[in-house]
Amino acid sequence: MAGDDKGGSPADWEVATRLVRGGTARSQFGETAEALFLTQSYVYDSAEGANARFAGEDPGFIYTRYGNPTVKMFEDRLALLEGAQACRAQASGMASIHLALMGLLKAGDHVVAGRCLFGSCRWILNTWAPRFGIETTFVDAPDVDAWRQAVRPNTKVFLIESPANPLLEITDIAAVSAIAHEAGAKVIVDNVFATPILQKPFQLGADVVVYSATKHIDGQGRVMGGAILGDTALIDEAYRDPIRHTGPALSPFNAWVLLNGLVTLDLRVRAQSKTAADLADRIAGSQKIKALRYPGRPDHPQYEVARRQMTGGTNEMIGGGTLIAFDLGDQAAAFRFLNALELVDISNNLGDAKSMATHPTTTTHRAMTEEQRLEIGLTPGWVRVSVGLEGAHDLARDLERALDAA
Ligand SMILES: *Cc1c(COP(=O)(O)O)cnc(C)c1O
Repeated sequence: MAGDDKGGSPADWEVATRLVRGGTARSQFGETAEALFLTQSYVYDSAEGANARFAGEDPGFIYTRYGNPTVKMFEDRLALLEGAQACRAQASGMASIHLALMGLLKAGDHVVAGRCLFGSCRWILNTWAPRFGIETTFVDAPDVDAWRQAVRPNTKVFLIESPANPLLEITDIAAVSAIAHEAGAKVIVDNVFATPILQKPFQLGADVVVYSATKHIDGQGRVMGGAILGDTALIDEAYRDPIRHTGPALSPFNAWVLLNGLVTLDLRVRAQSKTAADLADRIAGSQKIKALRYPGRPDHPQYEVARRQMTGGTNEMIGGGTLIAFDLGDQAAAFRFLNALELVDISNNLGDAKSMATHPTTTTHRAMTEEQRLEIGLTPGWVRVSVGLEGAHDLARDLERALDAA
């Protein structure tokens, strides 16, 4: 079990050790690899045993919608990485965000969120939550004062995504969290773009951190998954029963894949972020690029904030992340660029070992109105590139050739 006395306390382990060994719970067979428990339910030694399990007196498993040993290994490993007391895993990142919001909200409540958000998160707040009497004010997220001005007496949640999709805007998580807490609201941080390696939202004031594990945590394009993390008291109070009774459970198979994804997360994210930084510097001067956004470059509008908070909890910026966005002027140029790529795939996914490029206006952000897109600065010339694990020279050659074609 994690927490046995061999090798010291997991809480004192280095990140690398947490990712390889955190959460591992061996069965009676002593397997080296984490076991895949494909089981829906569990059996009890006696009727009294079942009674105790259901009464919560015996902490064992009851039903995989409630919990599963392989899923728990993934949850415990991710919690250890994040430095959180508790983690609960879901079937997708959107199941996690939906749960994170709805567990803290009720009819009549108000949310403040950045207006640059992953498309489905925006849909939840724009279209879905109002059906249940929950209103949202969308703000210009880098403007700290805008968050303060949006607060109402019934504000219960701030939702922060930083860096945000698709133009990699940065929100000052510490400053905005302080405003939320003054107003008695909870802070949810969607930390997908930053990853748990580059940014530690709990150290900046977050109450709940949410991941799409589909992205960097898998990192190899295989399974969907998501997770919410926080203090045990909050996770139990806000989320335990909604998890049990609305059924967002992560499949044990997917948990097993993600558990193995975590093993190499630190290595992959650091390597991908370094290659992204090199590529951003290499192409920034291209005649074809009107503007380029990479949080690790001093010309990023919120570079100073990124430098302070993308430190992975250390004193120094670790990296600006694995994504780059740039404006090629118009949609025709963006399409010429994408169609000329030979190595990099055209795909809306991100955080993968394979580099991918997408045109947000016609894919991930097409559900927004043109007016909403213009409000966040998303014009049809923008392309978003997720940098993978390929060789930096091969990627540079591919991007440069495609830029020539744009
Ligand atoms: C992908 C993503 C999500 C949703 O995750 P899924 O696993 O696709 O459901 C939420 N937020 C951000 C920032 C994402 O990139």
